[in-house]
Amino acid sequence: MGGAGGSGSRRGSGDRTGKPAGAGGRAGGGGETELLTIGAFARASRLSPKALRLYDELGLLTPARVDPVTGYRHYALGQLEHARLVAWLRRLGMPLARIRELGGLDGPAAAREIRAWWAGVENDVATRRDMAAFLIDHLSRKDATMTHPERPQAIRYAALTDPGLVRESNQDAAYAGSRLLAVADGFGEGGGQASAAAVDTLKELEEGDLPAGDLLNALDEAVTRTKQAVGDAAASPADGGEEAGTTLTAMLWTGSQLALVHIGDSRAYLLRDGGFFQITHDHTLVRSMVDEGRITEEEAAAHPQRALLARALTRGREDRPDVRLQNVRTGDRYLLCSDGLTSAVPEEQVRDAVAGTGGPQETVAELVALARRSGAPDNVSCVVADVVEGAL
Ligand code: MG
Repeated sequence: MGGAGGSGSRRGSGDRTGKPAGAGGRAGGGGETELLTIGAFARASRLSPKALRLYDELGLLTPARVDPVTGYRHYALGQLEHARLVAWLRRLGMPLARIRELGGLDGPAAAREIRAWWAGVENDVATRRDMAAFLIDHLSRKDATMTHPERPQAIRYAALTDPGLVRESNQDAAYAGSRLLAVADGFGEGGGQASAAAVDTLKELEEGDLPAGDLLNALDEAVTRTKQAVGDAAASPADGGEEAGTTLTAMLWTGSQLALVHIGDSRAYLLRDGGFFQITHDHTLVRSMVDEGRITEEEAAAHPQRALLARALTRGREDRPDVRLQNVRTGDRYLLCSDGLTSAVPEEQVRDAVAGTGGPQETVAELVALARRSGAPDNVSCVVADVVEGAL
């Protein structure tokens, strides 16, 4: 595809729509190629003359010929296929700048680009769907009278962090309390302070009452404070160091709900009815590449840049965490962990340890032991929490 190159000078605007230009709207093209007037081309391509003028100005669909005197645009029949593709992509909602990038690509390359863009759209919709569900849930509960109080639930929890067998220091932070479960994996110079600052800031949410209705705002404010604290703790690339910051995967317990905050490649898993599910999405470049169909899961696992984060809490970057409400059931077991566990220990082994009969304390110890048996090249952090019946 790709628009035909224009020739002659063009004016920014000035084509009159619906200008009669001979039978069928066809205009002479120097006797070589049959050219269509903008009106005829608009009808044939199902794009409006106004859109055609805009796409010309943006370099997205250049007319085959522009009359140097009148400024009227003329299009070649061979441009119809590309124009119709542009019309379809606009109907899909693809931004103009993105469509322009498709201009010089052949079919398979253009197909890859559309697939990649669409994966991003679906990802964005998934995040917004979670946020919408959160708001719907939050607003429905607001006016609901507690005529059927649920049985009180509580969480039993344990946290363990370990430097591993290779790293000299531990830049991970792990915390479990009666209301907060958190794992953060710092990186770069000052990464250890950054992960500690992230967890410490969230710990403030454990103090005082936290009505379920204010959860979203409380979390949002906590995330803003956390970003500030991480920015203060982490070295900035402008200071001459490498970029520093932290991942953060945290769950806040309100007594009946768990709110999840997540950014980076630490993970949260849920064990429910024997099923073991990852409930967070890795914010890594290789994960995006898998989602976009550029590489396979197998290629991702061996990718040299698999640790590169697409999103993290760092100084100067405006990445925002995913925030979501997780429905809980008595009997649920949650695992939060840094990539030092999941990159060292196969998921089936993690699952078996989490599904074992041990309590949270034994389970975190077993998981860290598994990572150490696998060589523990990275810091390892685990938090395990069980939802049980009973008051706090
Ligand atoms: Mg790590």
